[in-house]
Amino acid sequence: MDIACPQCGNPKLEVDEANSVVYCQKCGFAVKVDPQTGNVTPLSKGGAPAPPAYSGSGGAGPRTVLGMDALTFFMAGTAIALLLTFMNTINLTIFAVLELVLFYFYWTHK
Ligand SMILES: [Zn+2]
Repeated sequence: MDIACPQCGNPKLEVDEANSVVYCQKCGFAVKVDPQTGNVTPLSKGGAPAPPAYSGSGGAGPRTVLGMDALTFFMAGTAIALLLTFMNTINLTIFAVLELVLFYFYWTHK
């Protein structure tokens, strides 16, 4: 099967040969393929990928920054820094430094 998922582009679609179903583990997209006629019947359109459940690798729970998870903190900080840059409150050099600091926090807390 060299078909990429039409919903999310995942190049590795799973094939359930027993049921003639091709499905995507990433977004839930699934079609039934009739082996005789080659007809494809959509089973699930997939759609927005579900947020991945925290896998708990390493045993420790997710660490947080100021009560937000690291990625939220990083995104929020980036949004604020961008806003300040657009309003000419800070210049690009300070923006870059802020981003570095944010990314450092993200990296050490993710
Ligand atoms: Zn998909």
